[in-house]
Amino acid sequence: MLQDVLHHIEQRNRFVLTSHARPDGDAVGSALACCQILRGMGKQADVVLHDGVPRIYRSLPFADQVLQADRIEGNYDAAIILECDSIHRTRLEGLENRFLISIDHHLSGRPFAHVNWIDPQAVATGEMVFRLAREAATPFSPEMATCLYTALMTDTGSFMFQGTNEHTFALARELVLAGADPSYCARSIYFAHSVAKMRLLGEALRNLNTLAGIGWTWVTQEQMERCGAIEEDCEGLVNYVLSIGEVEVAALFREIPDGRFRVSLRSKGALDVARVAERFGGGGHECASGCSVDGPLPQALSQILDSLRGSSFVQ
Ligand code: 5GP
Repeated sequence: MLQDVLHHIEQRNRFVLTSHARPDGDAVGSALACCQILRGMGKQADVVLHDGVPRIYRSLPFADQVLQADRIEGNYDAAIILECDSIHRTRLEGLENRFLISIDHHLSGRPFAHVNWIDPQAVATGEMVFRLAREAATPFSPEMATCLYTALMTDTGSFMFQGTNEHTFALARELVLAGADPSYCARSIYFAHSVAKMRLLGEALRNLNTLAGIGWTWVTQEQMERCGAIEEDCEGLVNYVLSIGEVEVAALFREIPDGRFRVSLRSKGALDVARVAERFGGGGHECASGCSVDGPLPQALSQILDSLRGSSFVQ
């Protein structure tokens, strides 16, 4: 499949790269590094993200070149979509009639593109992009290593999530040897929060509940406004719930402007939360998934919590 992707890249010249809305470290890091691979192959390439680059990833090399748009305009020969199970996840218009190449590592990945390289064994899409760089034999710069190390570090929860194995560390080693600085990468992400985010964390912790191995909390639009928080400030809040000893599965409900709720699910491994998210039209990984449900809050809570309680926990 990797050769297939490379073959289709070699045959074309102008590329647009994108990833999902509200991009995380793997989405941003993979797109930036992949763009450099294409440029190294002599191609023209642009990264377009519906929501632009979140604040904590703006210090990544080439992040300032990312275009923020609602629609892909322009005469591209192909679009490379990273980390998505559909064009819908990008929230971008104008992808419909283009030649599409999908690169994704999600268990819930779906073959929606013309070329689909889906590898759930990869701990991050960044790992697949690294393999692409190797296969393409393009120059691999310290900046590309920084982007991919950030993708790897964030998608493995700083090398703590299930699935992290000897290959993950072998890849991390390669990236460090290629010029990534682990402490610089960690500092820009884990020690770069906004005050608004910390205030919102306080609100989320005030709403905290735990029962029978499940922990959950929520943030409303009103709370976000009061804290001066924006969407990306909700990133990672769910991990504080999962950090509680007796919690096996954590859920964060974030009210969105249309009154629905975005749900982030996390598991320590006893329950496959991708399965739960899929029941509501979402997806993700065994230990980290997401979906959207209708409000109001009590209804959103009961739908997801009932589904979690009805799922069998592995002991
Ligand atoms: P988060 O909770 O950080 O938004 O998402 C956790 C994981 O689930 C990420 O890997 C993300 O790509 C995936 N995910 C979140 N929401 C959705 C969704 O609506 N659909 C799909 N397919 N995956 C999702």
